[in-house]
Amino acid sequence: MKAVSFDPRHGDRDGTSLIIIALGANLPSRFGDPAQTLLAARAAMDESGLRVVAESRIWLTAPVPLSDQPWYHNAVVAVETGLAPLAILERLQEIEYDFGRVRTSRNAPRLLDLDLVAYDDVIVDRPALIVPHPRMHERAFVLRPMAEIAPDWRHPVSGLTMDQMIAALPDDQQASPAGEAGERHAG
Ligand code: ADP
Ligand code: MG
Repeated sequence: MKAVSFDPRHGDRDGTSLIIIALGANLPSRFGDPAQTLLAARAAMDESGLRVVAESRIWLTAPVPLSDQPWYHNAVVAVETGLAPLAILERLQEIEYDFGRVRTSRNAPRLLDLDLVAYDDVIVDRPALIVPHPRMHERAFVLRPMAEIAPDWRHPVSGLTMDQMIAALPDDQQASPAGEAGERHAG
């Protein structure tokens, strides 16, 4: 995934809002391997009013907590949208549901995780939605890709910078860009 430039013709916001969504997948879906699932999810976001304007590389990350389930593919995107935070969450959940439907099995695992990580310096604290995402600061698989596209963001509750949050991560969370881990992916 590479950065995409902002298209000033579109969007009713001023273009400075920073809305960050984290994507994760660790099982094959009907779209292919997890990297292909992430690319398909990015396209689905574009189609549902969440216009992707910047994106991190795809990262390979160990499951948290560490287990023998497959490693995750993670990425972070910035989107441009006029939707409010709760409406964004609803769109993300629709896409998760759509991607998670597997016709062959009844209790299929969710194949795609989409989290609203940050919405500028907005703070939301509701039963269904907490922004910034309540666990973002302790997750290498969110912070490391997010630092690629939003290095200057500061957590509105703790006041910590991206660098400070990354420095505070525990040592055991392995994460590396997919290309560097010797894996090839489309896009
Ligand atoms: P996680 O993504 O933290 O590993 P889940 O995706 O299983 O866990 O959590 C889904 C639940 O988290 C949803 O029911 C949703 O309402 C709630 N939630 C609260 N805040 C957020 C947020 N910022 N982004 C996504 N889901 C959120
Ligand atoms: Mg989630």
